[in-house]
Amino acid sequence: AARPHWLFADQLGPHFLREGDAGPDPDAPVVLVESRAVLRRRVFHRAKAHLVLSALRHRAAELGDRARYVRADTYREGLRLAVGASAVTVHHPTSRAALKLVESLPQVRVLPARGFLTDFVAFRRWADGRGRRRLLLEDFYHAVRVQCGLLMDGGAPVGGRWNLDAENRERPPRGAERLPVEPPWWPQEDEIDEEVRADLDRWERRGEVRFLGRDGPRRFPVTRGEAQQALDRFLAVRLPAFGRFEDAMLAGDPWMAHSLLSVPLNLGLLDPLECVRGAEAAHRAGAAPLNSVEGFVRQIAGWREYVWHLYWYFGDDYRHANALDHREPVPAWFADLDADAVEAACLRGALAQVRDTGWTHHIPRLMLLGNWALQHGWNPREVTDWFHRAFVDGYDWVMVPNVVGMSQHADGGRMTTKPYLAGGSYIHRMSDFCGACRYRPQERTGPAACPVTTGYWAFVAGHRALLEHNPRTARTVAQLDGLSGIEDLLAVERRRGGGPP
Ligand code: FAD
Repeated sequence: AARPHWLFADQLGPHFLREGDAGPDPDAPVVLVESRAVLRRRVFHRAKAHLVLSALRHRAAELGDRARYVRADTYREGLRLAVGASAVTVHHPTSRAALKLVESLPQVRVLPARGFLTDFVAFRRWADGRGRRRLLLEDFYHAVRVQCGLLMDGGAPVGGRWNLDAENRERPPRGAERLPVEPPWWPQEDEIDEEVRADLDRWERRGEVRFLGRDGPRRFPVTRGEAQQALDRFLAVRLPAFGRFEDAMLAGDPWMAHSLLSVPLNLGLLDPLECVRGAEAAHRAGAAPLNSVEGFVRQIAGWREYVWHLYWYFGDDYRHANALDHREPVPAWFADLDADAVEAACLRGALAQVRDTGWTHHIPRLMLLGNWALQHGWNPREVTDWFHRAFVDGYDWVMVPNVVGMSQHADGGRMTTKPYLAGGSYIHRMSDFCGACRYRPQERTGPAACPVTTGYWAFVAGHRALLEHNPRTARTVAQLDGLSGIEDLLAVERRRGGGPP
């Protein structure tokens, strides 16, 4: 008889059940475990809990008699309820904790990971290759393009250049409240969503679980069919605009031209290959410009793959890295998404968006929320935990490198060559937040001094030794030395402490 195959909640697409080489047995019964302990132990955004439960239950409904769906306290207990001590298979899970669990269970046979374009062996070969001093995203991305034959004309990149990022940094169109682009695909909720919502309400009422953020309509796909519709719509009507304004922010347009595909990708509902091939096909058909297509391909075939592999390659201690010795706790106003306590328009806007949707695009994560945490010396472990719980697409593998490495520079520069740090003038250039703000981005002292600008200089002053030895940041230290009023600025910063700006 076929061994049952166990699917984690982020392995829900058809490619996780494909039989054959290193796959599950043909027609294997499918085990899905809904674990309550996961929700009891940590305070997640309510929209995230909703998405995961809705996706699991939809998958079970689709699989019908083939599914063995169990609700249990822990995964261990769930597996026992589903199959007793019988042998099962599972694909390599996406977190170290889950891998440890499945490896500790003698009945479980772990099959290779799926859901990524490249495997561990290929990454290790690349990373350990002779003469490789640094693991640069750009080099890895080229290797993936070549290996997958993605956007290649023979041995050369389509259009002659690997990276068109310089064309993807436009400031938002002046005076526009929204980007002139078709809206994204939005889901219609069904009776499974209703049931999930009723369960979450009940558990919350009984005090069994607590959530962050507001409940709202479901905004992301939870089934294969929905994920395909979302991808098709993005490729057909939004991809052409993706590139130009990729880094721009508008207070009234949280979605801009982003794909909103991280949730279905990370639930395993979309195969990254179909996403990047779809974008390439749009370009070859003349339907989308190269800067948009290359930009989108780089996000998925570059960044997403790179982050996945770094999570495993850097080892278990990476999550504890704290090279800048940042020890401040994440304050309650931020942790609890209390946007109303914040006056600085940019941070208030980003925090409100997390509160209301559990999602922002990349730049608010990096240049507003992460930037604020970095400037104020918050403990990177706590910041990672917060991002993981507050974002609908947050999973351990993707949060640890993105927060510890990219955003908080806590790994001492193993992942990025300099800290991602912004002052008010960057935010002013790339968004429309500053117009309605009580602070002025250029001012460093006085009542209208922009807290993002003062935080910037306070960070530079506090990490002078690190920054002056890095050729990419040495100039900033020289600029600091030319500024007047730094002592006053630092005094104001000290008075603010961990309070909201
Ligand atoms: P798009 O802008 O449309 O990009 C397309 C896809 O590229 C995304 O769906 C995603 O799958 C992939 N991608 C792009 N950048 C990254 C990256 N740095 N790491 C991994 N995948 C990437 N992404 C997550 O999927 N989960 C997270 O928990 C997460 N946490 C982040 C935390 C911080 C501090 C930062 C700076 C970035 C984080 N990202 C995370 C990366 C990125 O911000 C999101 O993937 C993206 O904003 C999701 O929106 P989208 O689907 O519209 O992306």
